[in-house]
Formats: sequence, C-alpha cells, structure tokens
Amino acid sequence: MIKLKTLDQAKVEDRRVLLRVDYDTPTTQENGRVVVRDDTRIRLTLPTLEYLLERRCRVVILAKRGRPDGKVVEELRLDPMAKKLEELLQKPVKKINTLIGQEAQQAVDDLQPGEVLMLENTRFHPGEVKNDSELARALAQFGDLIVNDAFSLSHRAHASVSGIAEHLPMVAGLHLQREVKTLSGLVENPKRPFVTIVGGAKISDKVEVIRRLSQLADVVLVGGGVANNFLKAEGIEIYHSYLEDQVVDEAKRGQSFVAVAEELLQNNKHERMMFEGYIPLPRILYPIDVVAADRAEQPSYREVIDLVNNHQQIPSKDDYMFLDIGPKTQRLYRDIIMQAQTVFWNGPMGVFEQPDFAEGTQAVATAMAKTSARTIVGGGDTISALKNFELLDRFDYVSAAGGASLELLSGKTLPGLKPMIEEN
Ligand code: ADP
Ligand code: MG
Repeated sequence: MIKLKTLDQAKVEDRRVLLRVDYDTPTTQENGRVVVRDDTRIRLTLPTLEYLLERRCRVVILAKRGRPDGKVVEELRLDPMAKKLEELLQKPVKKINTLIGQEAQQAVDDLQPGEVLMLENTRFHPGEVKNDSELARALAQFGDLIVNDAFSLSHRAHASVSGIAEHLPMVAGLHLQREVKTLSGLVENPKRPFVTIVGGAKISDKVEVIRRLSQLADVVLVGGGVANNFLKAEGIEIYHSYLEDQVVDEAKRGQSFVAVAEELLQNNKHERMMFEGYIPLPRILYPIDVVAADRAEQPSYREVIDLVNNHQQIPSKDDYMFLDIGPKTQRLYRDIIMQAQTVFWNGPMGVFEQPDFAEGTQAVATAMAKTSARTIVGGGDTISALKNFELLDRFDYVSAAGGASLELLSGKTLPGLKPMIEEN
C-alpha cells in the first residue's frame, strides 16, 4: 500500500496553505452566464477545505482549466469554479485574474485566517506544463506548504503539481488520500476472483494497465476499440474497425500495438481461470461476437457478427466497423462479473454515445450494479455512460481520475505523489 504524508502530520494550524485541486469541470450557459454543470470534482475537495478552514489556515487554491497552451484564454478563466465553490462552501472565495506577480502577491498578503483565495488558471502560464522551476518557485512563495488534493492530475509532471514540491513540503489532501488508498489497495490484496474490465478507444492509454492487471487479476475482459487490437492479433478480420496501431516507444520502435496485444495473449496462454459453467478460461478474454455497422451515427445497417463460429457465416458487407460487444460476449462477461468478489472497470465496451451501440456497456454496468462483489470504476467516459444509465450510485467506489488511476494501477510512480510518499 502506498503511504503518503498526511494533513495531520503536517500540523497546518494557522499556516498559509497552497491547495492543489482539480476543478476542471464541464460548464454550461445559464441566463447568459457560464456556470459549472457538474460540481462533483469541487464537492470532493470540501472535506479538505473544511479541515483547513477549521484550523484557521489561509488557503490559496491552485487549479487549471482546459488546455490554454500557456496563453490567457478568456473562456478558460476559473471564475465559474470560484462561484460554485463559494456556493458549496457558503463562504466568500476571492478570485483574481492572475497567477503570479504583484497582484497575486498582494492578494495573498491580504488573506486573513480562514479565508480562501483562488488564483487564475495555472495553464495560462507557459511554465506550468514545462514544469518550469521559476514558476514553481514563484508559486511556492505563496504558502508554507502545499496540500495536493488533485489525484486526477498527479500523473502530470507540471510546475504546480510536482515541481512546486521542490520548494516546500507537500502533503496529501483527504480526497487524494482516499483515491490512492482505494486504488493501491485494489491491487495489493483484492478478494478473489478479481475481475477487471478494460475498454475504451485508444489502446495506448490502456496497454500498461492491461499488462499489469493480466498479472494481478484473475481475468481481464477486453472490450471497445481496445479489443480490436486483440482480435487482429488473433488473426481475426476487423474490416474498417477503429484501430490504434502505432509504435509504442523508442525502445520498441517498429513494434505495433497489435504485436503488444499478441505478446500479452502469448504470455497468458497457459494461465487458466475457472468460472462456473465454463471450461477453464484464459487470463485475457476478448469479444466472441460484436455488433457491426457501417458507421456509428445513423448507420444504414446493424449486424451481430459471431467471431468464433464465423466459418458458417459469410460477411454480407465489407465496410463493417465493430462498434459494440455482441450478445454472447455480454452474457459471458456478465456471468464472470456475477462470480467475482472484486471488479474494477475502466473504458466503455462500445460507442455508447449512440443508443445503437450502448448495449454492451449497459450490460456490463448492470451486471456490476447487481453483483455482490466490491465494484470500482474509473474513467471520464465510463462514468458519463453510468450517469446515462442511472447506475453510478450502485458502485462501491467511483474514482474521479482517469489517466492517473490507470498509471497508478500500472505500477508507475506518479510525479505528483512522489514528494509525499513515506519511506517504510
Ligand atoms: P474513459 O474516459 O472511460 O477512460 P476512453 O476515453 O478510453 O474511456 O474511451 C471512450 C471512448 O471509446 C468513447 O467515446 C467510445 O465511443 C469509444 N469507443 C468504445 N468502443 C469503441 C469502438 N468499438 N470503436 C470506436 N470507438 C469506441
Ligand atoms: Mg475518455
């Protein structure tokens, strides 16, 4: 289990605290004003904020919004987030239009115990994503310590996320603490069978987590666009389906993701898992049937293709795109999920944004809602699918982080966590 330096250890009473949060939330127009549409991420930081304010801290909030590429972009100012926070905290939140410099310094100096100040979007400064040490140093001057409550950004080596910790102590916020505890505990000592499900579009985001989970979990159920790499690796025709197949990294130049999928399948070839009602199953499972169409939006046809027994079947079209897992795969995945004790899921099984191709994702979601196993889910699109199905509250743990949770589960050391890790 990863152990982090805690707020309690830091003795924050009466101190100036920089608080790193992830308030990058969707917005919407309301009476001609831009407002936060989904305040989940802001709510998640309230326990930490309340902890600090009860202890008379002067709190300076650091947050980013979107990808302004180091320039001031009017639409990406943090004012809607500050407004929402004010509403949730029921306390004034001072927001200024700069990040560093005279105005920021003055605002920090004026801050009284128990007051909150939000600085402007950290990514308006070109030094942020470059992890510029001058920017990190300038920000560090605004506090006696930094509290990191932005787990979902902790895989970024950015000035306000990791570089800043070279200039002042960093400790874990309460929300970050809970994320790290849950996710690192998941791979440490899960109740078995430990079933994992990985889907989504791009295999580059998921390949490392599939690799690690194929060692740690009893089974990895693959779906979505990611599955196409595995199908192709098995020599199955995927027609015009989505396929990400680039070079992995410098060391593996020339190798494709199909080759990586093949290697993963090979490595796990002799590992078998017993699930009731089935012959011993391999560690990594891919769809045995799919829903194919000519396109995701308003397709002119929609057809289920059996990928295992397709010798009897002559494909009627050649512009097939595999856009969802088929009914047999849904049944197989559901049966396995129902027998699990722990289930982790990241990445939709199909193009769930279109009702025609949402069935597979819904089937997995429903099985997870029903199973007695402990269920953990992460990923922006996966969560948005669960909201559509009104099943989100049926999960035991919902991680607010996508990329960061996958990197943690892959066994990587995250730059934003590293400064807080306690050596045993
Ligand atoms: P998350 O945000 O939960 O980590 P991803 O961002 O990895 O998920 O993937 C979500 C996207 O994957 C969705 O937009 C969905 O339409 C797409 N997707 C799922 N299955 C397929 C498929 N078979 N072909 C193309 N895109 C797919
Ligand atoms: Mg996504």
